[in-house]
Amino acid sequence: MTSKNDLALFGGKKVITSPFKDFSTIDESDEHVAMKVLKSKRLSQYIGDKGQFFLGGKEVRNLENKFARFFQVESAISVNSWTSGLWAAIGALGLEPGSEVITSPWTMAATATTILHWNLVPVFSDIDPNTFNLDIGSVESNISSNTRAIVSPDIFGQSANIELLIKLCQKYDLKLISDTAQSPMATRNGYFAGTKADIGGFSFNYHKHIQSGEGGMIVTNNSEYAERLQLLRNHGEVYLSRLPKSKWKYGILGMNMRLGEIESAIAANQLDKLETSVNSRRQSAEAFTKGLMNLDGLRTPVVEQGNDHVYYVFGLDLDVDLLGVKREKIVRALESEGVMALEIGYQNLHLLPLFREQLTYKGNALPYSLISRKRANFLKRQSLPIAESLHKKSFFGIGWCVFEYSQTEVQLLVEAFQKVWSNLDHLRSE
Ligand SMILES: *Cc1c(COP(=O)(O)O)cnc(C)c1O
Repeated sequence: MTSKNDLALFGGKKVITSPFKDFSTIDESDEHVAMKVLKSKRLSQYIGDKGQFFLGGKEVRNLENKFARFFQVESAISVNSWTSGLWAAIGALGLEPGSEVITSPWTMAATATTILHWNLVPVFSDIDPNTFNLDIGSVESNISSNTRAIVSPDIFGQSANIELLIKLCQKYDLKLISDTAQSPMATRNGYFAGTKADIGGFSFNYHKHIQSGEGGMIVTNNSEYAERLQLLRNHGEVYLSRLPKSKWKYGILGMNMRLGEIESAIAANQLDKLETSVNSRRQSAEAFTKGLMNLDGLRTPVVEQGNDHVYYVFGLDLDVDLLGVKREKIVRALESEGVMALEIGYQNLHLLPLFREQLTYKGNALPYSLISRKRANFLKRQSLPIAESLHKKSFFGIGWCVFEYSQTEVQLLVEAFQKVWSNLDHLRSE
């Protein structure tokens, strides 16, 4: 028999009494490579003009070569954030303003805002309730005669169903971009996530598997895209005005998205740690999954056949009807036991006012004024039942890149969950 006041929520003793050790991939070897660049006094060697340094300095190029080899792609193009990378990737497709681009509501905002930046119209599709990646059926049902591309996140650490997405893109003549910010080294049927799309890429911001403070890497096997991406990140027009005429070589709208030499040196050093970091995440997540196996009404991450998960977020889904307890109560009880990095629900980007009310530019309906009023109104009211229900009722996640999650810590987490589950009656009657 359990008694109600066992739960920390009702005054009992907490399972987890001290904070977990923060996860960080930064160590002395990063200090060393950073200092080396600092001492060289060349913190960036980019120039926005013709010449070899249009493509960056030594550290930038070393990082890109190393990435391309590691991920087995033809080209890797570094940028100062993956948001910049998404902006450049979408720009490199060269789509006509007002074209529609399909993406997921369950991703970080940049996946969709960078579509708007090019005056393209984001169209959200529903997600697969098991993997939280785009649902292929919903994507297909959202394709219109005006759809030109799909931006598909590999969310929480797991690859989207890339084969089916590629098939769809072939059928409807669409371009495919993978947002693999959360899933570096996730694999699907032997390929690295992000490398099978027309353009893919990764983030190096400080919460991701590896980091350089800020930074990102775009990958592609298409040499024309690679060239456009290099132009877009470095004031394309300055360089271009000196090159022979061609449609793309004149009038590309560039930006400064250059990564510095110190960040590049750190990111290159971090790449050496990616495998270790991914393996430790996988081990702790698998041990945690096992520990939760016998808990009713709790679904641990579903790893699709052919996929290897790298666990950025440990996503959990509750059967709230079976349990008869609201998610919020369960999460509060877990938090009281000392469980950290819990997050209730995830994004539902399509419901944000920016998209819902089509507020991109103050007082101007661009890019939505470029499509028919009927279509624009449809997008305002669009509902995505799976994403909405997961967010509203049943999903919660644990940030798996926040702490190291040693064996002992995973054991404590399991204990906290077990304890809350054996006290569900007390939560129910509360
Ligand atoms: C982190 C993240 C980004 C943005 O990357 P930054 O390097 O922070 O700009 C984009 N998409 C997803 C899915 C992310 O998790």
